[in-house]
Amino acid sequence: IYLDYAATTYVDPEVFEAAKPYFCEAYGNASSQHTFGQDAAKAVEHARMIIAAEIGTKPSEIYFTSGGTESDNYAIKGVANARKSKGKHVITTAIEHPAVLNSCKWLERQGYEVTYLPVDGEGVVDLQALESAIREDTILISVMTANNEIGTIQPIKEIGRIAKAHGVLFHTDAVQAFTTVKLDVQECGIDLMSMSGHKIYGMKGVGALYVRNGIRVDKFVSGGEQERNLRAGTHNTPAIVAFGKAVEVAVRDRARNLAHIEGLRDYLKAEIERNIPEVRFNGSFNNRLPNNLSVSFKYVEGEAILLRLDLDGIAASSGSACSSGSLLPSHVLLSIGVPIEESHGTIRFTLGKATTKEEIDYTVTKLTKIIEELRFMSPLFQQVKGESKNV
Ligand code: PLP
Repeated sequence: IYLDYAATTYVDPEVFEAAKPYFCEAYGNASSQHTFGQDAAKAVEHARMIIAAEIGTKPSEIYFTSGGTESDNYAIKGVANARKSKGKHVITTAIEHPAVLNSCKWLERQGYEVTYLPVDGEGVVDLQALESAIREDTILISVMTANNEIGTIQPIKEIGRIAKAHGVLFHTDAVQAFTTVKLDVQECGIDLMSMSGHKIYGMKGVGALYVRNGIRVDKFVSGGEQERNLRAGTHNTPAIVAFGKAVEVAVRDRARNLAHIEGLRDYLKAEIERNIPEVRFNGSFNNRLPNNLSVSFKYVEGEAILLRLDLDGIAASSGSACSSGSLLPSHVLLSIGVPIEESHGTIRFTLGKATTKEEIDYTVTKLTKIIEELRFMSPLFQQVKGESKNV
C-alpha cells in the first residue's frame, strides 16, 4: 500500500503510452534539423504549450529543467546573480524545501542577506512580517505554494500583491501544488514558478521553471543554446512529453481525483482520531493539499512506526522524503511549534488517485496495533501513564 505520493508517484499508464514512442522510434535530438529532430522538437513544444496553458502564461515563458530542485536553484541563484547590482537581500520562509533553503544558504555564503520569515502554528506565512521585511535592496521573495511535509497552502495571491506593490520579484516553489491547486500566474502576481514531473504521475528527472518575460535570469547551465540559450543540454524528450501528458490528464480528471483523494484523506484522519488516542494533526485544515495528512503520535518514534508499517506492506514517510533517514527534527514541524519529542513521532501519509478505502482501513487497523505495541514498550509512555495513575 503506497501512501507516499508526495515523495513521488507512479507513472500513469496513459502518460507512459504517450512517452513510449520517444524512446525507441521518435528518438531524434530536438535541436537537430532533420525530420527525427523536428518530430522531437514538435513534441517538446506541445508539452510546453500544455504546461503554459495550465498556469495562464505563454509557452515562451516556460523553461524545461531536470526537476523541481534545479528550477528552485535556477530561480533563486539565477535571479540573485542577475540583480545583484540592484540589491543583495532575499526573503523566504523558514519552512521551504531544502532546494530553496540551501540555495539561500549558498547565497549567504556569496555575501547576500536572507530573511527567513516565521509561520504560524498552521504553517501559514506571516504577511505582516513579510511586508515589514521588504527593504530597498530586496530583490526576490520566494515562498512555496504548498508545503511538502504538512500540506499547508500559502496565501499566494496576497504575497503576489505585496511583492508587486513593492516592486520585488516573486518566486514560488509550486512542486507539491502544481495541477492540484489551480494557479494563474497573472492573477497571483507570480514572476517565477518551479514545477516537477514526478509528483504528478509523470517521469522523474524533468521539471520546469516559469519565468515572466523580461526578467533577467543568469544562465545556470552553460553549453548549447537549448531553452532559448538559458538552460543548455539535450532535451529529455520522453520525460518532457510525459510531463505535458501528465498535466493534460491531471487537469482533465482534476475535480474527480481531488474529491476522491480528499474524501479518503478525511476518512483516514477520522479513523485515526477514533482509534488512536493522543495524536496531533499538523498543518492547516482550511488551506491544505487534499492528499496530505501529517500526524504526530505521542511517546513513540516515527522511524519505528515506519519500519513496522513497511513490514505490514505500507509505505509512508517521516517528514519529507529528503530528510527521512536524518536524525535531525524536521525544520517544518519545529517552525509550527511541534515539540521536538512529538516531531520525532510524526508520520506523513500522502494519498494518490489509486488509493482505495480498503487500503485506508487496512492501514488504520495495522497502525492502531503498531502504536499500541510501541507505546507499551515506550518508557516515556509508561512513566506518564504511571504518574497519571498515581494522581
Ligand atoms: N520543492 C518541493 C516543495 C518538493 O516537495 C520537492 C520534492 O520533494 C522539490 C522541491 C524537489 O523536486 P524534484 O524532486 O523534482 O527535484
